[in-house]
Amino acid sequence: MQHRPRLNEEEYNVIKAYREGLVKYSPPKEMVNKPKILIYDIETAPLKSFVWGLWKQNVNIDFIESDWFCLSWAAKWLNDDDVFSDVLTGEEAISENDSRIIGSLWKYIDEADIVIAHNAKKFDVKRMNTRFLLNGYPPPSFYEVIDTLSVVKNKFSMSSNRLDYVNSLLGIERKTPTGASLWVSCLKGDEEALEKMVEYNENDVVILEQTYLKLRGWITNHPNINVFDNLEVERCSNCGSESIVWDGYKTTSTGRYKSYRCSSCGHNGHSRYSDMSTEKKKTVVR
Ligand SMILES: [Zn+2]
Repeated sequence: MQHRPRLNEEEYNVIKAYREGLVKYSPPKEMVNKPKILIYDIETAPLKSFVWGLWKQNVNIDFIESDWFCLSWAAKWLNDDDVFSDVLTGEEAISENDSRIIGSLWKYIDEADIVIAHNAKKFDVKRMNTRFLLNGYPPPSFYEVIDTLSVVKNKFSMSSNRLDYVNSLLGIERKTPTGASLWVSCLKGDEEALEKMVEYNENDVVILEQTYLKLRGWITNHPNINVFDNLEVERCSNCGSESIVWDGYKTTSTGRYKSYRCSSCGHNGHSRYSDMSTEKKKTVVR
């Protein structure tokens, strides 16, 4: 189901007031039903500049006519059907004013405990931080980042790490094709093109969720799902499932830990404490 949350006036005023330093927007985070995992993607406009040619250009910063900005964003909470998004109006696109949609994105990032994006570390997080800063928003509350591109790069040897290609190998529906002309139309304020852009954007987050779910069991530095709430049960550190089977060991150069296999996501995890007795530990030399 698609869901386009335009901020209502009250919500927007709260964010605006927060921007102006008048109120603290976020209510204290409750330690229940955590973590909130947000999958998101942003589409940006290219910067406009003067160039002397098309091949191997080194553009002088004085030749930048206007810098890049955000055209649209889309997001969804993990395992929830709703897709949220926001997109510039034609007028906003012409005046290159993304302040309103950056405000609505800020609200979701501020709420999230974990965010997931493909190339999050080098692209999405830094890009959105830039727009937050330049539009006067403070840093969102703490969140951890899962970068599916890093996972693909570090764990596998695929001929291309682009999401499209990875998904084609995983048997996941490919991205809606778009051409450069769509970006040009968006920059001209074409409402139909902007609507197409955000649909493309929404489709991307739905697809990225499927990619993440395929990769989840493989992620070794996944934020630990167990530390976000106060439940005192043994659960998989990657997906939070209680269906874990303790069936082996993980060893380090000086220790041995019990290991489990998660029946839900396939992750292999291990206990926090060593499985060796204190006396045994004393006899381990290296
Ligand atoms: Zn799991």
